[in-house]
Amino acid sequence: MGKPTGFKEYPRHTVPYRAAEERIGDYAEIQTAADASDLVIQGARCMDCGVPFCQSATGCPVDNLIPEWNDLVYQGRWRDAIARLHRTNNFPEFTGRVCPAPCEGACVLGIIEPPVTIKNIECTIVDRAWQEGWIEPQPPAVRTGKRVAVVGSGPAGLAAADQLNRAGHEVTVYERADRIGGLLMYGIPNMKLDKQVVQRRIDLMAAEGVKFVTGADVGKTVDAREVYENCDALLLATGATRPRDLQVPGRELAGIHFAMDFLTANTKSLLDHGDPSATPIHAGGKDVVVIGGGDTGTDCLATAVRHGCRSLVNFELLPKPPAERAPDNPWPQWPRIYRVDYGHEEAREKFGRDPREFCILTKEFRGDAEGRVCEIVTVDVEWTREGGRWQMTEVAGSRRSWKADLVLLAMGFLGPEDYLAHSLGLARDDRSNIEAPYGKYATSIDRVFAAGDCRRGQSLVVWAIHEGRGAAAAIDAFLR
Ligand SMILES: Cc1cc2nc3c(=O)[nH]c(=O)nc-3n(C[C@H](O)[C@H](O)[C@H](O)COP(=O)(O)OP(=O)(O)OC[C@H]3O[C@@H](n4cnc5c(N)ncnc54)[C@H](O)[C@@H]3O)c2cc1C
Ligand code: SF4
Repeated sequence: MGKPTGFKEYPRHTVPYRAAEERIGDYAEIQTAADASDLVIQGARCMDCGVPFCQSATGCPVDNLIPEWNDLVYQGRWRDAIARLHRTNNFPEFTGRVCPAPCEGACVLGIIEPPVTIKNIECTIVDRAWQEGWIEPQPPAVRTGKRVAVVGSGPAGLAAADQLNRAGHEVTVYERADRIGGLLMYGIPNMKLDKQVVQRRIDLMAAEGVKFVTGADVGKTVDAREVYENCDALLLATGATRPRDLQVPGRELAGIHFAMDFLTANTKSLLDHGDPSATPIHAGGKDVVVIGGGDTGTDCLATAVRHGCRSLVNFELLPKPPAERAPDNPWPQWPRIYRVDYGHEEAREKFGRDPREFCILTKEFRGDAEGRVCEIVTVDVEWTREGGRWQMTEVAGSRRSWKADLVLLAMGFLGPEDYLAHSLGLARDDRSNIEAPYGKYATSIDRVFAAGDCRRGQSLVVWAIHEGRGAAAAIDAFLR
């Protein structure tokens, strides 16, 4: 432990975002460059509490050795810190930017004081390591001659590919999109995770021997049986890409899109042309309504603000969360509290108010003479608890209408698409995910494994990395 009294001496100080006013004018990352000397002090706040909940089951899903690298950072041993960080996390530059940091919700210091800035420290360790040239290709010294095919190049597929390649197996990753990265590339916007940061890691993996095939839609343009027959083990990491729809009158009107179509087109246009003004779904000059909160909804808000939308509203069906932990949400659980994320802050900067409207249920979309959406009709809802279960009721006389000529549906995802599971004849669970028990990752078909959102349902980058690593361990044990 670096400094026993550090947590008493130093207040929490997070790496700030760029001012909202400035950052809404571009698509560059929102965070400022970290001051390493400040992070050294933040590392000293770690109490070395003895039972670090931050790295256990309620905290970090990849079991990052947090107190150890906090201490190394406090001592200025950055190179040792990256070695320790890479032992548990293949891609700390992704989690250090986009992870909601359940570790901080579980930090023991958080019982009495604001928690240690774990996520900032993680990000700074790895960013510094890249800058210093400490992260270099390390191809395996010996190859096993075993071939593994991975379908899907999101964080689960990439983490598995990285682990299996380092173990000496020959790994080929198939991706149907034109770029590798899954939601790290097309989904999470550039403002949160610069695509060069993603590409840098992919280039490293390629230099270490992982083969990447883009434009390969396995089960459609590429024969799934052929991929299966030509490898010793097949890992499916295809994500939960089936969006939840909103089947109310008027859903067929033009101008109503799934959030992912909006976000993907924006990033593709940004990467192809250096500017998303040519994106086919543009919010410029429009009254935009985003239906659904969460990360996806927030990313839509931030993107619509940058496009120059005329107005912006975000409907949320659930009530506004409390400002502090509720009694049934104690430490070290993830705090379910009201947060102002970057997209909310940016909308407030542009329009002078938070865009969120809580307890709103969409009843109908209305269109103009050309069949384009122009209005949304909603009712307010109330939530009450009966017998431990939450019940929703509509508030009488609360019908309202809202101007809307672009509607973005961000209501979550229902699991993986059907075609690949069908073509291989895989069993599915009752939520339509690919059936493969946690920890084993083996599906109902011999030599086929599954990991990430296609197995566990819509989740987080850090959980996808955890599952990719777990599946890689299971595949390695199977191959050996
Ligand atoms: C808009 C948005 C923002 C998010 N923001 C955050 C965030 O800030 N922090 C966080 O922790 N999590 C966030 N998430 C969740 C996180 O991105 C996912 O949980 C994570 O990416 C899942 O990883 P995965 O590898 O399982 O799947 P994915 O990342 O979904 O990757 C699956 C890949 O498989 C490919 N694929 C599918 N089928 C086939 C096929 N048949 N053949 C070839 N390729 C195929 C897909 O094209 C895709 O590239 C966000 C999600 C969304 C949608
Ligand atoms: S990966 Fe997420 S939970 Fe784990 S240490 Fe980093 S920010 Fe915390």
